[in-house]
Amino acid sequence: MDFLSPEIAAYAESYTQAESEVLKELNRDTYANMLTPRMLSGHLQGQLLMMLSKMIRPKIILEIGTYTGYSAICLAQGLEPGGVLHTIDINEELEDMIKKYFHKAGFENIIKPRIGNAVNIIPGIEGPYDIVFIDADKENYSKYYDLVFDKVRTGGYIIADNVLWSGNVLKPENEMDEETKALVSYSEKVHTDKRVENILLPVRDGLMIARKK
Ligand code: SAH
Ligand code: CA
Repeated sequence: MDFLSPEIAAYAESYTQAESEVLKELNRDTYANMLTPRMLSGHLQGQLLMMLSKMIRPKIILEIGTYTGYSAICLAQGLEPGGVLHTIDINEELEDMIKKYFHKAGFENIIKPRIGNAVNIIPGIEGPYDIVFIDADKENYSKYYDLVFDKVRTGGYIIADNVLWSGNVLKPENEMDEETKALVSYSEKVHTDKRVENILLPVRDGLMIARKK
């Protein structure tokens, strides 16, 4: 999952603002009690998402794939007063945990969690979105991009996580599984879309950042 050597990653984290107490607790709680805790964004990527959000100063953020709420709490830090972050997850078992941590972070009125399939929920969430963070089922990334695109404001951002998929995107096509193929075709789609400017940032598992022109 990591493309940096463990030593460089540790060095980078040591010179990155420490996690807040709430994020530290959420990180620990996720690793102690949840399946697949590696899905959590973590310290370095979380801090990057927070910084990007503070630069963009969004009013409306849409997150697709809440998991335990770590990335939502990071992104919400950059919201303008009166702003809102909508976050969607299909797994209803996460609901109690995310509500607890959104409350602890003081975001209970600012982060709006929605439980259900994002494909069905996105059309009901009003824009214009300043940031969309795509981080749910990899097979649907391109569908999510199409579903949100018209509701992203000009100059708004669509950020997609895990586009390097532990390096599996470099495999020959006949050795790729469906998720890997979907992630390659997502990168291809964004990269060839003349309506956006883009960068694939090789941080953690790869972030594709697209800015709507
Ligand atoms: N953004 C989180 C991690 C998300 S992990 C962080 O960085 O900390 C991916 C999540 O997507 C999982 O919790 C999974 O339940 C959710 N998911 C998968 N398919 C989905 C779908 N169709 N609609 C909504 N959420 C989905
Ligand atoms: Ca992810």
